[in-house]
Amino acid sequence: MEISCDIAMDLVELYTSETAGPDSTSAVKSHLRHCSECRRYYEGYRKSFKKERDIFASDIPDIDPSEKELSENVKKLSKRIRKRRILSRITNSTLLGFGSVTLILGIIILIHSKRKGHR
Ligand SMILES: [Zn+2]
Repeated sequence: MEISCDIAMDLVELYTSETAGPDSTSAVKSHLRHCSECRRYYEGYRKSFKKERDIFASDIPDIDPSEKELSENVKKLSKRIRKRRILSRITNSTLLGFGSVTLILGIIILIHSKRKGHR
């Protein structure tokens, strides 16, 4: 199908973003093959489109497998840290408990020995 340069340039946008239908795609392709002016326009458009897409892609990054793995690792790590925190809290309270038990025992022993002394 023969199309004019106007139509070809209009379709280049759709063609570049790969949203053109099969008929439009083949029409643009055949036009670009013999029209150097539109080809130049297309090359320029494609470059700016790619640049825009790259900027857009960097704004909203697709999570690729390595990044997914990374976030999994971060999750695991934070879990491990949380576990360790709980563990240290338990250890601390155990030590605190042990300390107070020792203190109470010490007081009891002290009282007992004082009573013994009175006798
Ligand atoms: Zn043309």
